[in-house]
Amino acid sequence: METPKRPTLGVALAPQIVSDLVPHLPDTHRLDNLPVDGAISFMGEAIHGGLAFVAVSTWKGLDTGTRERIASHESWQFLLVADQTDPETLEFMASGSFLTLVTCPLDGAKIARALHQAEEVSSMYQDIFMMAREISLERELLARKNEQLAFLNQVLTRASQTLDPAVILSNSAEDLGLLLDVRSVFGVFWNAAEGQTEAELFLPENLPQARQEDWINHLLSVAGRLSGDTIRGYQVSFLTSRDGIEDEAPELDQLVTLPLSLGPEPFGALIISSREATALGRDRLRILTSAANHLALAMRNSLEFRKTKARADHDGLTRISNRHNFDMRLREEMKRHQRHQDELSLMMLDLDYFKSVNDTYGHQAGDMVLKEVGRILQKTLRESDFPARYGGEEFVVILPQTREDQAWTLAERLRDVIGQTVFRVQRKRFRVTASIGIAGVKPGSLAKPESHIFKADQALYLAKASGRNMVCCSAIEETSVAN
Ligand code: GH3
Ligand code: MG
Ligand code: MG
Repeated sequence: METPKRPTLGVALAPQIVSDLVPHLPDTHRLDNLPVDGAISFMGEAIHGGLAFVAVSTWKGLDTGTRERIASHESWQFLLVADQTDPETLEFMASGSFLTLVTCPLDGAKIARALHQAEEVSSMYQDIFMMAREISLERELLARKNEQLAFLNQVLTRASQTLDPAVILSNSAEDLGLLLDVRSVFGVFWNAAEGQTEAELFLPENLPQARQEDWINHLLSVAGRLSGDTIRGYQVSFLTSRDGIEDEAPELDQLVTLPLSLGPEPFGALIISSREATALGRDRLRILTSAANHLALAMRNSLEFRKTKARADHDGLTRISNRHNFDMRLREEMKRHQRHQDELSLMMLDLDYFKSVNDTYGHQAGDMVLKEVGRILQKTLRESDFPARYGGEEFVVILPQTREDQAWTLAERLRDVIGQTVFRVQRKRFRVTASIGIAGVKPGSLAKPESHIFKADQALYLAKASGRNMVCCSAIEETSVAN
């Protein structure tokens, strides 16, 4: 490659020097001899550096400021022409402003040597300049890689700190903000259970009601597209979100959809709403995909954990809570009851002559009845009530903030609904009845949970002994001392 022609400047050279110099300059060098100020502005405007001749007599006459302004053009090489014998010449050279000294009278050899030296220095400067640029690029790259690693590290660390899917997604919304301008994050996960694909949708809690339908439809369409299945049902959970309201409808050009998978098939997707969605470079997309892989693992673990926990807490047949879960919940409810000094009741329910249901219609029919009773309990009770299968054909319900007489009314309704339900096995139809015992826990009671269960059980026994298909309340007076 031909090196660009470097300008050659005379800084206010005397006509004699110019006429001595010009014949010895190669054809490629044309000499521009300019007054001091003109030379300074020329150097300031030149893109590449060049060569400048300054005579000792001129340099002597310049003030320090002007000398510094000239010498500050580092890409230029300055040659000092000794047009007079001056004791200061050595001092000028020592100041470092000049590359070399050319003595008068000027001749071809001196000038050629000076030009050669200047050329060498210039190409050395060029090399140093290129190296410096490469180093700075390299540093920039490293800094960016460092940022990306820190980002991934944060996503991974936070995602593995919790087993709650909503918390993982809420945190990731914050962490992703380090990489791009995130407005909000949505999540959709699907699950094929019993031949039906169900979806769980995660929406930011600050999404206005009026926008929810649009987003739900969008997330369901993503789930349908990525799973290849028809989504039969869904449930919505909310993510804690930072300040501000997410008031945008889903706009495809403002969404980044990251499928989450651990194998070949995705099981969910993260949808990031961002104004930068279409402006993400290859680098940021790659790092987002890495983040999605980390999140996929954490999300799958948390979803599996939740499923396993639900299985461990619920009875396999009726799908309502099991006795273990009931015991834990009762302890919690009793504590709350004691703290808030409010009412609480317990209900114990046992199906009447259930053994004969099994004997007459078969065990499967018995199972069907148990399942239906579980459903009736869930349907008839309030959200805050807590029904559980206590064992066999016996159920128990915690009724927070419910007085004994209110519990009795509720129990009567339950007894009625169960008694009215007609079961069919092949061509035969039958009904079952239930006996129910109630124990009210008075505000301020310090008795242990077991003693309340015992009381409800006693009431149930009374209902059985009195002819079944009835509700009885506990007759045992409670002592208000812990026992
Ligand atoms: P009572 O009115 O005195 O409560 O009479 P009962 O027949 O209901 O009571 P008993 O304790 O004599 O019998 C309970 C029956 O419940 C016996 C058992 O086979 C049946 N059972 C318990 N668990 C299950 C279950 O999971 N499935 C079915 N099908 N039956 C069950
Ligand atoms: Mg029974
Ligand atoms: Mg029983």
